[in-house]
Amino acid sequence: MPIIVLPIHLVNKIAAGEVIERPSSVVKELVENAIDAGATRIDVRLEDGGRRLISVADNGCGISGDDLALAFASHATSKIANEDDLFNIMTMGFRGEALASIASVSHAQMRSRRQDAAETGGYEVEAAGGEIGPVRPCAAGEGTTVTVRDLFCNTPARRKFLRTANTELGHASDHLARLALAHPTIAFSLAHNGKAIQALAATDSILQRVGDLFGADLAGALLPIVPRRGPVQLGGLLATVAAARASAKWQYFFLNKRFIRDRLLAHALREAYRGLLDPSLSPVAFVFLELPPSEVDVNVHPTKIEVRFRDGQAVYGELLAALRETLNKAELAPTARLSQAVDERSSPADQQRRESLRQALADFFKSSPAHQPGLEFPSASARGDELRRGPPGRPADPSPWATASPQERPSARAGQGEAPTIAPAPAGARPPAASPAAMQVDNTYIVSASQEGLLIIDQHALHERLIYNDLRRSLETGRLSGQRLLIPQGFRVTTAEADCLARHAELLERLGIEVAPFAPATWAVQQFPSMLIERGVDAGGFMRRLVDKLSDSDAAELSSASSLEPTSAGSVEPERLLSEVLEMLACQAAVKAGQPLAPAEIDALLARRQEAENASACPHGRPTVLRLTLRDLQRQFMRT
Ligand code: ADP
Ligand code: MG
Repeated sequence: MPIIVLPIHLVNKIAAGEVIERPSSVVKELVENAIDAGATRIDVRLEDGGRRLISVADNGCGISGDDLALAFASHATSKIANEDDLFNIMTMGFRGEALASIASVSHAQMRSRRQDAAETGGYEVEAAGGEIGPVRPCAAGEGTTVTVRDLFCNTPARRKFLRTANTELGHASDHLARLALAHPTIAFSLAHNGKAIQALAATDSILQRVGDLFGADLAGALLPIVPRRGPVQLGGLLATVAAARASAKWQYFFLNKRFIRDRLLAHALREAYRGLLDPSLSPVAFVFLELPPSEVDVNVHPTKIEVRFRDGQAVYGELLAALRETLNKAELAPTARLSQAVDERSSPADQQRRESLRQALADFFKSSPAHQPGLEFPSASARGDELRRGPPGRPADPSPWATASPQERPSARAGQGEAPTIAPAPAGARPPAASPAAMQVDNTYIVSASQEGLLIIDQHALHERLIYNDLRRSLETGRLSGQRLLIPQGFRVTTAEADCLARHAELLERLGIEVAPFAPATWAVQQFPSMLIERGVDAGGFMRRLVDKLSDSDAAELSSASSLEPTSAGSVEPERLLSEVLEMLACQAAVKAGQPLAPAEIDALLARRQEAENASACPHGRPTVLRLTLRDLQRQFMRT
């Protein structure tokens, strides 16, 4: 074929392929335009997930009749005029290709009336499949309304990749949430098929906006990030360890009010929580960075979701410092206060918070090098209280937490007739000797003498592994036993997440979980695995994490399905998902680090140790048992 210059409608269609992936991309572009127009109220309406109709109405500055003729033209923009402007961008848009791209793959219409002009009426223009019609006067309120019908009507391949209406709605509402987070002073609404889905009132408080979007529970767990005011300005909100989620999608980074994804920033966040957070969980954060436009190139990605920092290391360093300072203040300092604040009136939420702090501290110390075998523990003849002393800074037994709440105490007090925390060894296993040589250290480790030397067991990791094995075994033969809740436990879900729950109905049933719609944006747990109930696991919180996990796995499947890579065998994915969910279950049900255990419980754990040995790592891949052989001891004491 000879070389030709492509006709402009084809160029636009190609550009649309990059910028307009699905209805949510249209929503993003149109809402960004409304924000650039200075709107204080933006209303988004979708029909059939955006396939049939997307409409975005704003009360911004509006467009004059003359300009309206150019709005759908390609490379037409009012936001930059020369090359210098490109390096000083203060608006969301600047490429002048969004409307042209949209109009090349849909039937689009724009109606507008300028705020300031003396013009009496408004104007409208239509564009379909790249053909732009004439500008006509029309009746219109102040501001602009763009309506996009039949998206991808002339690109059937794209249309085929669209998912169910609810999934597309979910994407659109995710994009809208990002924009709404960065612009709390703008009021937003979202409606689907004529039904109001979301209404966000304008506010000066980002915390308020987070609460309106994601619920008061999450907002209540957020700490203000200690602000930085150097060349890199940053602030925002950071969740406590207790509010961590099973998915990394609760990490929002904004640069100059633009939502971005950035490996470096995500790494700083993970780094800040290192040692405080279970590796299977992800921190929740809303980070807002402000940099002079000259310090960052936003023109490296068609949808601008990635940017290039001029000095990435400086941004990384500032962010990490701010996050660490925030966490240090909030997570470590209150321990002194906690020890005094132990009173009967503390609410379950307080107790939960205390429990999670305790967990965080235990994890922190667990990861500190002081616990290397051979360095930390004195010889076997050392006195127990010396062993119990624990790392510096840690209160001596009885720990202040031991009296925190009755539920937090291990229930297996011999002779009290309560269900044991750790199930006794199955029949046939070696009867647990009243092991005088086993003891709990730091309420976290069990140290036991054996013929080969010393064993140091991570109580949480071992218990978790045992429960995981038990769960696997029960699932081989049937499903987990569930128990009806007297009071159904609510948890928040978006429409897309509700869809996702419905898709995984079979998995939930196998797990003994029953959920149903309860109130707007809220589902309730009606039945929950007996084992988790016995262990006092909060059903609503657990479900929130499970929903994150399930929707993450669906998203992964989606992206692999739409890529050109050959997809793996269909049966592998559900298997992996099941394993991951079981790991989550086991982790929640297992005794925690920092939890005092009764001698009977220690014995029960030790008796079943062998069983876990073939896999001597907990499901998260951490070791469960460290062994100090006699030879090691001899070497340490220089007897060889
Ligand atoms: P860009 O946003 O990159 O400039 P677009 O194709 O999204 O390109 O929009 C083209 C132009 O149309 C904008 O530069 C702006 O002048 C005008 N425009 C689009 N949407 C609106 C709106 N909601 N209110 C006012 N002007 C708008
Ligand atoms: Mg734009």
